[in-house]
Amino acid sequence: MKAYQLVEWQQPPEFRDVPVPEPGPGEVLVKVGGAGACHSDLHLMEWPEGTFAFELPFTIGHENAGWVEALGPGVTGLDVGEAVAVYGPWGCGRCRACRLGRENYCERAAEIGALGGGLGRDGGMAEYLLVPSARLLLPLGDLDPKEAAPLSDAALTPYHAVKRNLERLVPGSACVVIGVGGLGHMAVQILRAVTATQIIAVDLDPAKLELARAVGADEVVPSDADAAATIRELTHGLGASAVLDFVGAEPTIELGASVVRPEGEVTVVGLAGGTFPFRFGAMPWDAALTVPYWGSTIELMEVLDLARAGKIRSHVEEFSLDDAPDVYERLREGKIDGRAVVVPA
Ligand code: NAD
Ligand code: ZN
Ligand code: ZN
Repeated sequence: MKAYQLVEWQQPPEFRDVPVPEPGPGEVLVKVGGAGACHSDLHLMEWPEGTFAFELPFTIGHENAGWVEALGPGVTGLDVGEAVAVYGPWGCGRCRACRLGRENYCERAAEIGALGGGLGRDGGMAEYLLVPSARLLLPLGDLDPKEAAPLSDAALTPYHAVKRNLERLVPGSACVVIGVGGLGHMAVQILRAVTATQIIAVDLDPAKLELARAVGADEVVPSDADAAATIRELTHGLGASAVLDFVGAEPTIELGASVVRPEGEVTVVGLAGGTFPFRFGAMPWDAALTVPYWGSTIELMEVLDLARAGKIRSHVEEFSLDDAPDVYERLREGKIDGRAVVVPA
């Protein structure tokens, strides 16, 4: 089968012909119904060798859903043909974090040497994906795999970020969402679905701000020199109880720190690598700055429930596997609305 693989660090991935994997004991072969193109893949292509101890080559694509194609020996509880979401962070499955379903924070991640399919192991930009354990698959029910694929990252990651801030996001509060791309457009919907907070979306691109409005933002603010003042005004001078930064560049973290309230949180999800001089006085009293990663299996269950209830829906642009290089080019140029999903079959 054809697979879109990272072959060399700091080079674009390449199409390579690889054998269709055969599931061994405990493993499951999934026919990929959708593989989302995440901005993290662009970072992955740019990071110098040694940033992560991943062995090359591997197939990219860490945001996947599809159908069970074949079960390895000993696998029970799944039916061939069943639609599934693939939980993306693949931990050891046995440590304390993994037993809590938080494989994103597996205690043995360093030992494992890969973070999951598409992040050190073969991912979903191919016709089939080998998943190391049935525990990493969640039933989709009647959700369509190509719309469900983004739920496993573009929705799960912001869901985790929202959930950690839930106690702050009481009625009367405000939450700023910076960057309304794949993750941000889901963040807005998740906030709308699980809180009564005032949602203020920030982006550089007017088209992204339009999408933000369409999916439920109360206010939209261009990401410019006036953004902080505008947000202050919109929040009656109080600022935001939480800022979810889906960019993570110096100006966005700075913006977050300048509009967060005392005891609020600036949750930096974006991996742009911006720095912030955190010190006494740099942020209001008791405000926190955090860098969460992905989400837990239980949180993915909750995300799938939100989607099945029709409360969140990924805005998907569909592409073929052959389009993958073009998809990433467009993502780099900011020309994808919502999420681009590659449908290999
Ligand atoms: P995306 O390209 O789909 O969206 C990024 C959005 O940010 C775009 O709408 C863009 O216009 C906007 N933007 C860029 N610079 C901006 C600025 N200065 N101010 C305001 N808006 C700006 O990206 P995505 O796939 O949604 O990913 C977002 C970020 O989150 C990436 O850095 C990605 O690597 C990261 N990420 C982190 C995790 C995690 O677990 N921490 C998980 C997934 C993705
Ligand atoms: Zn991602
Ligand atoms: Zn573990």
